[in-house]
Amino acid sequence: MPPPKLSGLLQQLIALPSISCTDPGIDQGNLGVIEQLADWFDALGFATEIQLIDAERNKANLIATIGSGNEGLVLAGHTDTVPYDANRWQFDPFKLTEDSQRFYGLGTADMKSFFALVIEAIRELDPGTLKQPLIILATADEETSMSGAKALTAKHLPNARHAVIGEPTSLKPIRMHKGMMMESIQLTGLAGHSSNPDLGNSALEAMHRVISELLKWRDELQQAYNNPLFNVPVPTMNLGHIHGGDNPNRICGHCELQIDIRPLPGMKLDELRYEIDQRLSRTLAGSGISYQTQTLFDGIEAMETDATRPIVKAVEKLTASDAEAAAYATEAPYLNNIGIDTIVLGPGHIQQAHQPDEYLALEQINPMVAILKGLIREFCL
Ligand SMILES: [Zn+2]
Repeated sequence: MPPPKLSGLLQQLIALPSISCTDPGIDQGNLGVIEQLADWFDALGFATEIQLIDAERNKANLIATIGSGNEGLVLAGHTDTVPYDANRWQFDPFKLTEDSQRFYGLGTADMKSFFALVIEAIRELDPGTLKQPLIILATADEETSMSGAKALTAKHLPNARHAVIGEPTSLKPIRMHKGMMMESIQLTGLAGHSSNPDLGNSALEAMHRVISELLKWRDELQQAYNNPLFNVPVPTMNLGHIHGGDNPNRICGHCELQIDIRPLPGMKLDELRYEIDQRLSRTLAGSGISYQTQTLFDGIEAMETDATRPIVKAVEKLTASDAEAAAYATEAPYLNNIGIDTIVLGPGHIQQAHQPDEYLALEQINPMVAILKGLIREFCL
């Protein structure tokens, strides 16, 4: 069956729940959305491949391709949404509602609508005119583990050269963002009665030295890296959680610190982790305190696509805006990593994402469809 008209596409995508959440009780699969998209792209003449990520939890990616060649354009997005707070929604999150020139619903901005607009842009496309392939990529679990993006290799997207991820950027192109990592540092000393310091070895006092070293390192990083395109132009490090000891009259035997680092493009997570280890080892040498570090989540690399790349030039021309830097992370580093020049550009406002009464302003629909048509003309026809 050919895809329905735009409001029908939006309505069906919003009605299919696909919440991803680290709480397994709330987490849902995205397979329903993937199968619906596969049906529509099938009907439009695409070859569709569903890549199962987690069969038990119904998580999958969709790769739909039309045309052949080695310099294809990828239009990409995630099909999961965040959970919603029912008490704070004025509208039904799973029912598309049009009100005051807006479409309301969970995922209208972030980012199911993007797929509907892609279909709108290619409805009239004559496959015979394609000189390079057009590839639609729909992923799972962007909001949590990014397992969908992580499962992609160059083998899955062999004809892809350029990509646009349609996250809500209010139609402004983004070509770089910071990375993110969260690490735990655990120190173990020896507990003992406070009346005699020789009876123990304070992990808390050792943490004091570790914190001084971390803050010194932060200064060094902020001296070494500065990118004025970002609102906060330097890499940041936040000491966000600390716990140690149990009683004022006991020497603290164990202390844990959790930190968050937001690296700039050019800084690699592995290298930062290695540096933390080196500094801990130096700071604690000879102290009798042992340490352990733990990665609290896999982290996301910083992303930068060079301003000279054809995809950057093309979107800057089509939007009449310079590509900027964003304060949030996306799946873009995973695509860049497999050799696809990637930018982020889509309808909807980032402030609408993850909020009650999430909406897409109707006025952004036609301009986005025009941008998509322009991209296809530039790279595929
Ligand atoms: Zn998103």
